[in-house]
Amino acid sequence: MKNVLVCGAGGFIGSHLVKRLKDEGCWVRGVDLKYPEFSETLADDFVIGDLRDPVLCSASVDRPFDEVFQLAADMGGAGFVFVGDNDAAIMHNSAMINLNMVEACRFAGVKRIFYSSSACIYPERNQLDPDNPVCSEDSAYPAAPDSEYGWEKLFSERLYMAYVRNYGMVVRIARYHNIFGEEGTWTGGREKAPAALCRKVAEAKDGGEIQMWGDGLQTRSFLYIDECIDGTLKLMRSDFMGPVNIGSEEMVSINQLARMIMEAAGKTLTIDHIPGPQGVRGRNSDNRLIMEELGWAPSQPLQTGIAKTYRWIEEQVRNQDPGNA
Ligand code: NAD
Repeated sequence: MKNVLVCGAGGFIGSHLVKRLKDEGCWVRGVDLKYPEFSETLADDFVIGDLRDPVLCSASVDRPFDEVFQLAADMGGAGFVFVGDNDAAIMHNSAMINLNMVEACRFAGVKRIFYSSSACIYPERNQLDPDNPVCSEDSAYPAAPDSEYGWEKLFSERLYMAYVRNYGMVVRIARYHNIFGEEGTWTGGREKAPAALCRKVAEAKDGGEIQMWGDGLQTRSFLYIDECIDGTLKLMRSDFMGPVNIGSEEMVSINQLARMIMEAAGKTLTIDHIPGPQGVRGRNSDNRLIMEELGWAPSQPLQTGIAKTYRWIEEQVRNQDPGNA
């Protein structure tokens, strides 16, 4: 039986990953500041603790785990990472977690570590044209991410790669592009665009209006959580270190995304465009490398994941306020 550690197991991707690892028959320990918000964890052991603390990191890695997935980070959507107010916390907290975890894994003789980097590492200059963003892995340098969140991710990628070179550790690095799905943060300020728009659509009366940050012409691609877990495990168990994009190439404007959500909801709404944090003008995953190395690509269209996610968020909205939706 494989022993697996998931850091950030109380979060969105971490809690889904724990479920998949348990389905596979692994023994799983989760670590996080909190338990998953929307369902009981399936981890065999769950440590509540702060991974900025090196003592907690060493205690969590008390054996040479076969696999460690390091997903813990201080993160959120545009309203959290692009406003500037959280920059120091994002850089300090996430860098501390990575510095401590990689060192604890080295001392414990961990066999393989996965690190979740982000599309936010890509230079802003290549993402100014919403119709032609460039996010191939080799375009990361010269580095110029548009957020401190992206700079921390880039620093930590380099940290893990230095441990590979100097200590012979086995590391796998993915650059995730906008992961969404059920049991993701949908309210409170850290939610990302798909969840925020699903919530707004669920709260609106048919024929009414929703607000959107920016003109809605900015483009992105979104990857459904199950596909993200598939790609993550495929990378982790391969011979390919990365960094490699794990995302979808189905690029849509945020207006198109909103319309897709309205379709899932069966509502017709108008969009009120208001000022707000937006990030880069255009971004899309470039999946050539992962296809070449791992033969992986998402299997379903965006609309399929959106429909499932909308249904889940609509239920949350209804449960929160039974008079709504
Ligand atoms: P999430 O915020 O739901 O999960 C992160 C978890 O880390 C949270 O549960 C949080 O409590 C935990 N955490 C934060 N600080 C901690 C600390 N000091 N000690 C212990 N736990 C701590 O985010 P997610 O969407 O599940 O993302 C997982 C990883 O993937 C993150 O590293 C994120 O940066 C990366 N990523 C996510 C996306 C996405 O679209 N969701 C995109 C790119 C990269």
